[in-house]
Amino acid sequence: MVKNRKKPTLRLAVAILMLLVFSGFYFLLAPYVHQDVGEGDTQVNATVPATEAAIQTQPPAVDKSSEYLILVNKSHGLGKDYEPGDLKKVKYKVSSRESEYQKLRKTVASAFNDLAKAADKQGHTIKLTSGFRPYAYQKVLYEKYVGKDGKYAAEQYSAKPGYSEHQSGLCADVSSPSVNYNLVQAYGNTDEGEWLTKNAHKYGFIIRYLKGKEDITGYEYEPWHIRYVGKDAAKEIYEQKITLEEYLGEV
Ligand SMILES: [Zn+2]
Repeated sequence: MVKNRKKPTLRLAVAILMLLVFSGFYFLLAPYVHQDVGEGDTQVNATVPATEAAIQTQPPAVDKSSEYLILVNKSHGLGKDYEPGDLKKVKYKVSSRESEYQKLRKTVASAFNDLAKAADKQGHTIKLTSGFRPYAYQKVLYEKYVGKDGKYAAEQYSAKPGYSEHQSGLCADVSSPSVNYNLVQAYGNTDEGEWLTKNAHKYGFIIRYLKGKEDITGYEYEPWHIRYVGKDAAKEIYEQKITLEEYLGEV
């Protein structure tokens, strides 16, 4: 009788102990178990082997969060106070025109000097007319153009203050002697303009506002406006004949 009375007590004690052990395991491991089956983590786990394989066979993907890949357009502004802290004057620039606005971000200025030097070696003079423009100056320009052509027409070629790519210090308006350093669409058909179209990507630049892509960029064709995005991105954008908006999936 004594033995029979003790057995259920022992079983109960073992049962309670096991319950404690298992619940302990559950609370300790539950967070990890849930992570493994969660949607996001499952995707990460699934893509790891694929990514490793890709690294071995393909060039590394471009980091689209790069500071040189920021998007500035009619719906992506920079704000009133944005000004890059590393602006530098470029070497190849048109003298006497907007001289205080002929700076680009350090990396971009250096890339532009390389581009202009290479063009020069091949017999083409390409110079910067306008680079970084602060908010206040863009405001002056925009208001002048709206006064002259009206808001709708002006906005096909001029950005509202805060929404100009020129405020990023990543883009440049360039031109050549064949069009008297003017910014005209005919520049695209000049020897220098054609050289620029074919070679800008080798120095990390793209022709930002393409013909036929006006509905995506929001601007008319501008063969003179080049934007620095870095060599890898520029090559891909050039080869695919796409806009920065399409490249970044922001269409
Ligand atoms: Zn421009």
